[in-house]
Amino acid sequence: MTDQKTAITPTRAQDFPEWYQQVIRAADLAENSDVRGCMVIKPWGYGIWEQMQRGLDKMFKETGHKNAYFPLFIPLSYLAKEAEHVSGFAKECAVVTHHRLEVDSEGKLRPAPSAELTEPLVVRPTSETIIGATYAKWVQSYRDLPILINQWANVVRWEMRPRLFLRTAEFLWQEGHTAHETEAEAVEETEKMLDVYATFAREFLAVPVFTGEKTEAERFPGAVKTLCIEAMVQDRKAIQAGTSHFLGQNFAKASNIVFQSREGKQELAWTTSWGVSTRLVGTVIMAHADDDGMIVPPRIAPTHVVILPISPKPETREAVFAAAEKLAEELRGVTFHGAPVEVEVDKRDIGGGTKNWEWIKKGAPVRIELGPRDLEKGTVAVARRDQSPKEKQFLPVADVVAQIAATLQAIQDNLYARALTLRDANLCDIDTKEAFYEYFTPKNSGKPEIHGGFARSHWCGSRECEAQIKEDLKVTIRCIPFDAAAEDGQCVFCGNASKRRVIFAKSY
Ligand SMILES: [Zn+2]
Repeated sequence: MTDQKTAITPTRAQDFPEWYQQVIRAADLAENSDVRGCMVIKPWGYGIWEQMQRGLDKMFKETGHKNAYFPLFIPLSYLAKEAEHVSGFAKECAVVTHHRLEVDSEGKLRPAPSAELTEPLVVRPTSETIIGATYAKWVQSYRDLPILINQWANVVRWEMRPRLFLRTAEFLWQEGHTAHETEAEAVEETEKMLDVYATFAREFLAVPVFTGEKTEAERFPGAVKTLCIEAMVQDRKAIQAGTSHFLGQNFAKASNIVFQSREGKQELAWTTSWGVSTRLVGTVIMAHADDDGMIVPPRIAPTHVVILPISPKPETREAVFAAAEKLAEELRGVTFHGAPVEVEVDKRDIGGGTKNWEWIKKGAPVRIELGPRDLEKGTVAVARRDQSPKEKQFLPVADVVAQIAATLQAIQDNLYARALTLRDANLCDIDTKEAFYEYFTPKNSGKPEIHGGFARSHWCGSRECEAQIKEDLKVTIRCIPFDAAAEDGQCVFCGNASKRRVIFAKSY
């Protein structure tokens, strides 16, 4: 392999969207299914999702939540109860209209006309309405509050332009739904869960995020306030990686979640909802993968260390395999963030080079090669996925075991540092309309794959300015960041007075 050759073609610089598809294929993460817009998540991709679930689930429970499960189907009339909500989701709803099939006179299978449902069922695009209807039955008194529940589930939002992990018709997610006695408690919950997401993104995904509030135009349909975390990926676009909604009393009113207050009055509850999805897998790919394939941050890696026994001659094979298994056992005895280091010994009978490259493309954090000569010397060759494929360190076995947790953490920290460096290098304050339009026109950078970056600019608060910028440049306000200082300025579009900067970017 020459210096210029990469395992993935095209490279990120040549064609970022196609590179993304090729990484998913090379790393064996997922594939398109026969059902348009729906993906098959393969074991390596699903393993990453499971690690994400594990990390998040623990954080949800530590913040007082419990898991439950609600129906896949929502009666049409439930969805209709909240006007903004239904208009926001109507265009992407899958609807069940029949409950039986029959063979017609021409021998073809069809939904039986006699089995038409009196009320169609919508496959959940999100569960506020069905969960709200349930909470209405559970809540009578202020003593029944708060309700703090999370659901791990799949949802369906019909998708015309699907892209693996980032936008699929069916996707996996979690949705938290809480009900509270007071507005202040519900607002606090909304902020707390956004904080959980931001911490998770930084510590597990090694992805820095901005936290802030969405503008009215970008808000969840039916919410009073939508908070979000926004990440930058390697083509400088933004990905909304998680949202937390303060729903006010809108859904309580629609679902009739009424309780008797401490003063003996009938009052409406205050509710929230919050979610992240398999979109996070896409975010991690776009944030960390390189021209040789996937790079999985150790904290979400299904396998931390892969051991590759090299035994070209049959007479040494058994000894090499035995040494590999022994090393695997020793490594499994080490803990990384409270759980055993996950180790796989790849004994498949295929060429060592091919095998090594497979794991590079899959992005396993650490690869260890072990051959007959290493056995004699008592050393092994250790390679880190965040370094060049050619870089190897020859270490005594005991050192590898002693250092593995620190090595994994070093990889995790390095990935975060890289992502932060990229983001900070592509974050700027822009104060004139001319500079703003110039920044977001890719041909100006001489690199068609670069989409500007994150611009912190003043905005007057008008929906018209926001809409015109979106139409002209496909640039949206990603969030009104929490950490934005009060600062007098002029709207980058119309020049009217503005009190603070917001973050503009192109997005997925
Ligand atoms: Zn304006």
